[in-house]
Amino acid sequence: MNLEKEKLIEFYRDLDRSYFMDQYKEYAKEDAPLPIGYGQTISQPSLVLKMTLLLEIHKKCKVLEIGTGSGYQTALLAKFAKEVYTVERIEPLHEKAKERLINSGYKNIYYKLDDGSLGWEEHAPFNRIIVTAAATQIPDELVEQLATGGRMIIPVGPRYLQDLMLIRKDEEGKITEELIEKVRFVPLIGKYE
Ligand code: SAH
Repeated sequence: MNLEKEKLIEFYRDLDRSYFMDQYKEYAKEDAPLPIGYGQTISQPSLVLKMTLLLEIHKKCKVLEIGTGSGYQTALLAKFAKEVYTVERIEPLHEKAKERLINSGYKNIYYKLDDGSLGWEEHAPFNRIIVTAAATQIPDELVEQLATGGRMIIPVGPRYLQDLMLIRKDEEGKITEELIEKVRFVPLIGKYE
């Protein structure tokens, strides 16, 4: 295992999930998804780690995250990336996550309250894109906003069971898709709902 991976796993082990939760804090150490209010959930930690590892993040990466939620996944990304652009559509979740991450000292995160299903065009291209809500199909806009040599991870499929897809864009702009595993995420609201 390379050093970056080891560092990420170490940081993940030390990251206190309960800090990103207002309710069910006593279950924070369980490897299970938990409600964070407004019908949304924080994913199970092992899946958050897996998705982050699949992205192969490093300090030169500009990352787009759709679905800030609690900010837990954002923290993991921001620790190892150059910058993270994160979009959330539910105002209280956006506000809370922002407060938590700012209080934790992160200075490389840019927050937006909006529908993120169409990405964040002004800041494109992104070296990495992570979507933490399920789309019924891969959003064209996100593929468009992915830099060459980039990677995107996104759950794709119907309401209750989706395919976690790893999308790569090579240096020529050619797209390849790889199925990782079956997952269950809350829906990505908007054009790809
Ligand atoms: N990564 C988050 C997971 C949150 S669940 C965490 O670690 O806590 C998925 C989030 O995606 C929810 O907060 C939901 O409100 C948000 N979401 C759903 N559709 C969205 C959209 N179109 N744009 C932005 N955020 C969206």
